[in-house]
Amino acid sequence: MKILLNNDDLNEALQNVSNLGFVPTMGSLHKGHISLIKRSLKECSKTLVSIFVNPTQFNNKIDFKMYPRDNKKDLLILKKYRADFVFMPNIKEIYGLNKVSKFKLLKKDKILCAKYRKGHFEGVLEVMKRLTNLIKPNKIFMGEKDFQQLYLIKKHFDKKNTKVISCRTIRDKNKLAISSRNKLLSKKDLSTAGKIARNLILFKKNLFSRGHKKDLIDKKIKELKRLFQIKIEYLELRKKTDLKLSTNTKDSKLFIAYHLKKVRLIDNF
Ligand code: AMP
Repeated sequence: MKILLNNDDLNEALQNVSNLGFVPTMGSLHKGHISLIKRSLKECSKTLVSIFVNPTQFNNKIDFKMYPRDNKKDLLILKKYRADFVFMPNIKEIYGLNKVSKFKLLKKDKILCAKYRKGHFEGVLEVMKRLTNLIKPNKIFMGEKDFQQLYLIKKHFDKKNTKVISCRTIRDKNKLAISSRNKLLSKKDLSTAGKIARNLILFKKNLFSRGHKKDLIDKKIKELKRLFQIKIEYLELRKKTDLKLSTNTKDSKLFIAYHLKKVRLIDNF
């Protein structure tokens, strides 16, 4: 595996590469990331994984500082799974010294996480623009765990020569979606987050046959708050294709963002 630290390394390494798969990550790699890497290795001739904790997508400096990082372990994982390249640029390499311009979000896209994490997706889309311009991948592999991110990246970056491939969410045995942020949870909180995931999987299943979805969802919000002492930002049923609010479970997903103590978790079912 070649470790690439800057744009020159990248240009040299990718000179004669075609059918390149790209897996963008912020590191602290886990089974969710590994599933994307495996898919890329299967579908592409070469696989490049980036590790870059992107400062512009954090609307909170403490959150950026607290974000788990473990480059040493990440490199061992990438070697084990035989990724071809890892790109680990520093901030200057991506943003230079200029004031950072940011992507603009349309008003209709300012929903779900975009409503609660101001500037987050603008930062995600900006870094994806910069990374894909440098890497020029044929396929980009992204997880459904971050469904709204996947939706926006598909909308802006899915082109004839660059396809965005959606990959299913990997869960632990308690059904909690695996996430780097889970490392910030205590054992007890991990178990609570697992209970919330199982509760919502069942709720979504039963929602199918019942009317008045909005009322049922409002009741569910109250119940979850009472049972688990969490702060819920949103629990909403939205269409998979355009993320418009839905009253029909067919082709829809249930989206949640909540705070368990100081940790913000998102999931969709
Ligand atoms: P992150 O490092 O959190 O920015 O995630 C990098 C990529 O891994 C994104 O495309 C995520 O959606 C994806 N990912 C994170 N967790 C999971 C998971 N549990 N299952 C599948 N994909 C995931």
